[in-house]
Formats: sequence, structure tokens, C-alpha cells
Amino acid sequence: MRKFAWIAMMAMAPSLSSLVSAQDATIRVWVDLTDAPHRILHTHLIVPAKPGPMTLLYPEWIPGEHGPTGPVIDTVGLKITANGQPVAWKRDSVNMYAYHVTVPAGANSLDVAFDQIQPPDNTGFSSGASTTTELAVLNWNQVLMYPEGVPSDQLRYQANLRVPDSWRYGTALPIARESRNEIEFQPSSLTTLVDSPVSAGKHYRTVELGTEGSITHYLHLAGDSDRSIEITPEQVENYKSLVKETGALFGSRHYRSYHFLYTFSDHIASFGLEHHESSDDRVGERGLVDEVGVKANANLLPHEFTHSWNGKYRRPAGLATADYSQPMKGDLLWVYEGLTEYLGDILTPRSGIYTPEEFRDHLAMIAAALDRKAGRQWRPLEDTAVAAQLLYNSRDDYEDYRRTTDYYDEGTLIWLDADVTIRRMSNGAKSLNDFCRAFHGGAGGAPALKTYTFDDVVAGLNAVQPFDWAAFLHTRLERTGPHAPLGGIENSGWKLVYNSTKPDIFRDFEEEKKHWDYSYSIGMIVRDDGGIQDVSYGGPAQKAGITPDDKLIAVNNRQYTPMVLHDAIQKTASSAEPIELMVRNGEYYSVHRVEYRGGERFPHLERDSSKPDVLGKIIEPLVKR
Ligand SMILES: [Zn+2]
Repeated sequence: MRKFAWIAMMAMAPSLSSLVSAQDATIRVWVDLTDAPHRILHTHLIVPAKPGPMTLLYPEWIPGEHGPTGPVIDTVGLKITANGQPVAWKRDSVNMYAYHVTVPAGANSLDVAFDQIQPPDNTGFSSGASTTTELAVLNWNQVLMYPEGVPSDQLRYQANLRVPDSWRYGTALPIARESRNEIEFQPSSLTTLVDSPVSAGKHYRTVELGTEGSITHYLHLAGDSDRSIEITPEQVENYKSLVKETGALFGSRHYRSYHFLYTFSDHIASFGLEHHESSDDRVGERGLVDEVGVKANANLLPHEFTHSWNGKYRRPAGLATADYSQPMKGDLLWVYEGLTEYLGDILTPRSGIYTPEEFRDHLAMIAAALDRKAGRQWRPLEDTAVAAQLLYNSRDDYEDYRRTTDYYDEGTLIWLDADVTIRRMSNGAKSLNDFCRAFHGGAGGAPALKTYTFDDVVAGLNAVQPFDWAAFLHTRLERTGPHAPLGGIENSGWKLVYNSTKPDIFRDFEEEKKHWDYSYSIGMIVRDDGGIQDVSYGGPAQKAGITPDDKLIAVNNRQYTPMVLHDAIQKTASSAEPIELMVRNGEYYSVHRVEYRGGERFPHLERDSSKPDVLGKIIEPLVKR
């Protein structure tokens, strides 16, 4: 067998018999990525065991994904043996992630081998596509099991990895030895192992982003082509500034070294997943080299990096579970994700990744999208956090009526509001920076976890600026009704307005998402091929009878093209004629008259000169460049 042959031939590995006789409780795991280009990962574990009943668990609740997203459905070829003899396993009939075995008399370990199929589908998170012929991102939770009943902090694993010949790799997991394409890692807790993904690939480059104290930061670039990882000196400088800005913001770091695993492919899932000492950041193949990709993904690394402090070091008690079988509670995700989104958004211009104008245009997009949501009438923001484990997987249709994971963007508005409130009440002496330094700073060093509750957040804010923060937060979390919380924008010297000029950032997001966003005019998002991605609930298109997933056939009797629709909407600025849309719904065609006047409309922030420009102050770099 491939995996056993590999163990025997690894010069660095002890012989199989000495492993089996090992009396320590360390679980050994060998993962083979050489078939990753064919979307199969091979894994083999040796799990110390005692004779009698035992339950092995496959990780279900994945940290940072806030839901039961472990891909047990893709686990195949499971074989368990002890002393070379097969051991029968039985899946639990309720918990699909639990395998029951009886360890035979005389055995002191189990050999557990299985393969993990990697999906071709590039949607979803870490259980989505993670391998191509050119690269792989390995999340250890997908290739291991653990004995039931022991917290992940207390389980000790020693991992080994083989990558395809000539591939290079990067990870925060400390390495003991490496030889050609084989890596032996230092032993770690299961928590640290699962927290330390590996990226590997044929086209690979590592760039240092600076050292503070003894802590070094690395950017590991893996892509589907050499071109995809061609980073410019200016981009490197911006990421070095990001490192310095976080030091100035938080005052300490809770990691031994930090590794951005930045991956560029159109054939793997696009997302970011945070860890204490690294982040798994994935965008399209041109995400680093085309202006559109660069601008649409600008806040990804600032967001995921911020999570090392807000999310990993400081974590809501309900998300700090003892192992991967315990359900997570998402009610404080408006802090975990919402504050991270705000800090990531303001670190982006502080680091030079966005200009101040790009930051404002992006903030206007966020505010406008939240302000028009019909779902605000029935679903309070807090429910979007509580229901996160469902809403991450919800579809795009009727999105504004549904309201999905709004605690990200609405978190930006609420924490901006809090920042502006602190600055206003303290006459500029204090800010949310002071809260971050006190709440997320501390001694620093190796990864640590300090949980918090709602009351801790309120107490932390009160320590910076006395105020009824509990009422401030409860109002914004629990109310229903029209309009987003725009107080932070309005009190920082700016107004949300709409006009016919499309901001560059708005265009970049349209290109990145491959659609045309007419949400603020006729209330419709359309793809190039005429597929209607969504309609604004209660907007002109929906009132006229257009349904999400309809196919747009013709506009004012002329075959649909993006330009024909664009011209028709533009004409409504000076004409009272409704727009006639012919659509296909299933197998039937129908014509709808959309009553709308006003031409194209796009959101902007406009300066309110009656107030000081606090927003401009907030995005100023903390470190002089
Ligand atoms: Zn996040």
C-alpha cells in the first residue's frame, strides 16, 4: 500500500513497529498530497488505544466557519486495523461524524487509514474545492480523526506531510525536519494542528513582510500560473504597512510568527479563513495582478489578519468549544466578524491598500446595500448572527428580503458609530483604537484564548468612554424597521447620497462578480447572459412581476444585451415611459412594464461641511510612512 510504503521509506520516520509500541499518547498522522491534483488526499493515523469500546470523531464544527461544515461526506476508503488485523467500525446512527470500534485485546493502538475526496465545486469554504493540478491547500481537520472525550487542547498530534515533487509549501506549523518533498512537523496540540493549514504548489513564492521583536511575518503566494503570483514592490510595501499598523493598533501580537497563505485560482473556493498564526486566503487567479481583483479583494488580508486578535485571541464564549463535535453559538458574531470587518475596512486605507476615496466609495456601497434591505422589517441583526450556521449557505435569491450574514457589513456601520461616538464624547482624546489596545492587546506571545461575553464588551467600551453602551448595542442589534444605522457616517461628517456616476469600486465589484447591479434604480441584478440573479423586494422590477432566476430576453422589444438594458435605464432620467422587459420563467415568456424614473443611481458619500471630517481622521495611518 502506498501509505505504508511511504512510512517505511521515509528516512526520518521511525519503523512502523516502533511506532506501534510507542507508549506516549501522541497521535501520528501522515498525509500524502501527491494525488491532490486528482482531488484525492491520502491519510493514515496511528491512534494510541486501550482494548475495549472506543469512538473516533471526524471534525464537524470548524473554527472560523461557525457551522457544522466538516466534509465527512467526502471521507472514503476507511480502513481500521490493530496489530495488522481488520477492526470493524460502525457509524453512529445519530452523529454522522462518529465511528464506533472495539479495540481488540492485546492492541495498544489503532491504524486508521482513509482517503478524502476534494470537490471540484469552487463554492463554499474550506470543504469546497481546495486542489488543482498546480496547487493545494490542506486543512488538517479534513484528514484526521480524534478520540471522543478529550478536549482538543489536550490531544497531542505529530503530523507528517508529503507534497508532489518540486512543489513548495508554507505553513505556520513548526517544522522538525524536511527532506525533498517530505516534511515532519513538530508535535502540537490538535487545536494548533487544525489551526495551521498548509498551502503548497508548483508556482509558489514566499515574501517576508517584516519582523517585530522576534516575530516574523510571511506572505506565501500560490497560484495556478507563474503570472498569478507576480506581486509588485508597492503591494509588498502595503502589506508591510498592514503589519506595522496592526502593531500600532493592538500593541501586542499573540503568535510566534504569522503566515498569510494567499492562493490564486479560479478553480478553488474563494474565501478567507482565520487562524491564530496564519490565514487561508483564496481569490481568483487574477486576484493579485488585475486591478479589478486587487480592488474587489482589498480588505481580505486586513480582515483575516485582524482575526488573530479579534476572533482567535479574544473569542465569544459560545464559539470557544472544547472540541469539534460541540455546537457553536453565533450570537456575538457581530463582534467576532462585525468588529473584524470594521477594523479590516479601516486598516485597508491605513495601510495604503485603498485610497481614502476608494474606502469611502466602498463604505457607501455597504451602507446603501444595508439601507435598502426589506429584510430589516422582520429580522433583527442579532438573528443573522444566531442563525449564521444556516445563513452562510443561503442562496442569492430574494437576498435583501431574507437578510443573510449582515453582521459583517452592518458590524462595520455599528462599530464605526461606536468609534465616532467615543471620539465625539471624548473631544477626540479617545477612540476605538484605545478599546482595541485594551481589549485585544495584553502581554502577547504564543497563541492564547481569552473568551468574552456581551457584558465584557460593554465593560471594555465603558472603560474607554463611559456611556450607556448596553442600550447603544441592544438598540442596534434587536430593532426591526427601515434603514441601516448610518449614525457613524452622518456624525463623522459625511452623507450617503445617490447619483448617476458609477464609482470605480462599484464597477470593480460588478466585474468581479460578473453581474450588473441596478439595485438602486430598477431594483435588479442581471448577469451578462440575461440571468436575473436577484430583484430588490418591493422595488420597481419586483413590483412589475420580475422573479429572481427569470431570464431576461428583451428590453423595450429589443433583444437583451447589457448595453440595451443600460441605455433603457439611462433614458428614464428624461422619459416617463416605463421599461418593458420580456422574461422567460421556466418555459413561459411574459412581458412586464417596470415603472421607474430617475436614470441610473449609485451610492456615494458626500462631505457634510457642517461637521468635522472624523472619517478622514479614522483612516489616517497610525504609523508615519
Ligand atoms: Zn472573518
